[in-house]
Amino acid sequence: MARYENIRQALDDLPVFDVHSHLGAKGKWCARDIRDLIGYHWLKIELERLTGGKIEGASDVQSFMARVLPLFPAIRNTSTHYCFVGMLKALYGFEGATLTAENWEGVNEAIESAARRADQRAKVLDTGKIRKVLVARRDMPESNPGDRFVPYDYGEKTISLEADEPGDLDRIEKRIRAKVAELADAGSKALHMAFMRTERYLPDSAPDTVSALLDRKRGGASLSADEANRIHSWCLDILTDEAGKRGVVVQVFHGMARYASPVSANGALDVDPGFMRNMAILAGGHPGTTFDLFLATRQPSHESASFGRILPNLCLSGAWWHGFTPATLKMFYRDRLEMLPNTAWTAFYSDGYTVEWVIGKLHLAKHCLALVLAEMVSEGFYSEDDALRIARNLLWENPLRTYGG
Ligand SMILES: [Zn+2]
Repeated sequence: MARYENIRQALDDLPVFDVHSHLGAKGKWCARDIRDLIGYHWLKIELERLTGGKIEGASDVQSFMARVLPLFPAIRNTSTHYCFVGMLKALYGFEGATLTAENWEGVNEAIESAARRADQRAKVLDTGKIRKVLVARRDMPESNPGDRFVPYDYGEKTISLEADEPGDLDRIEKRIRAKVAELADAGSKALHMAFMRTERYLPDSAPDTVSALLDRKRGGASLSADEANRIHSWCLDILTDEAGKRGVVVQVFHGMARYASPVSANGALDVDPGFMRNMAILAGGHPGTTFDLFLATRQPSHESASFGRILPNLCLSGAWWHGFTPATLKMFYRDRLEMLPNTAWTAFYSDGYTVEWVIGKLHLAKHCLALVLAEMVSEGFYSEDDALRIARNLLWENPLRTYGG
């Protein structure tokens, strides 16, 4: 355990690059009171699972807490709860094991008082030495000291076709290329591409086939999943080609679908066994474009590492949504450490909506990374010094090289 403790402690001295967040969405960067922290959807879905209904809606913080506090013992074991308590300890000096009727008001006062500080955003990120964060370009702050915030755009919007868009492929291609060029000129470093449920890249899309499908679509026909994928893939080839020319990274998100439930349209795991094989064809077909793969599930962990091993332009990053749990994080880290150069992947991204949760998620990522690094030192793969040099690449140098900023 001493080896783990040494490595874990040393990780806190390293700078961190967070390669995906939603900071600044709807103008929000910091929590205003405890409801903003409990309301983060990763924690909220666990609480709503217990109530079968929405936990929001209370007009004041007292009523909200009266509703949620009795639920905390039931989620005491989850990794999201671990992140939540780790965040309270790091930011507010919290000493409890969980939120209770006795301690929550002290925590809430600390959050409210921190929220009044003008430099709260930077102060929280500095707590985790988070020097760079990818933020949606539309949410970029006016003031960006040290170029801490690095812009990305939602690439899905760039290739989505309007229902009545004429099936003129030349015109569509020009539109997609012009849009990517415009985003790159505006400073965008990455395009976010989430592949949901049946969406899959299909190689070798013949223009005649795509044109005929677009005509059918415009005529009101409903296309099969494969037919829709054919159009999407033709557009994706153009987008990735232009992104490569403009030095924009294509971030691919895989492993989740949205399921409507009586509570909310939350996402759950959804793996397409053919996705990874075709993902490799996409990356292999565009050697001039850098891809960064974000997985929500451990099933393709080994497979994705094998593709990362052979394709110089395919990076792997962190863990997405339900994949951000210790069992999956440790598997990702172990597969990648065993199989990939330590220059080929990144250990962390937060997916955070407020800066406080970036700290909460980093707490779990560092814990898992230290466990796996220490385990491999004990097994004789490398020394403790090597482990720290590797960790610096995984938390800082690699994403800095990939995304610049
Ligand atoms: Zn996200």
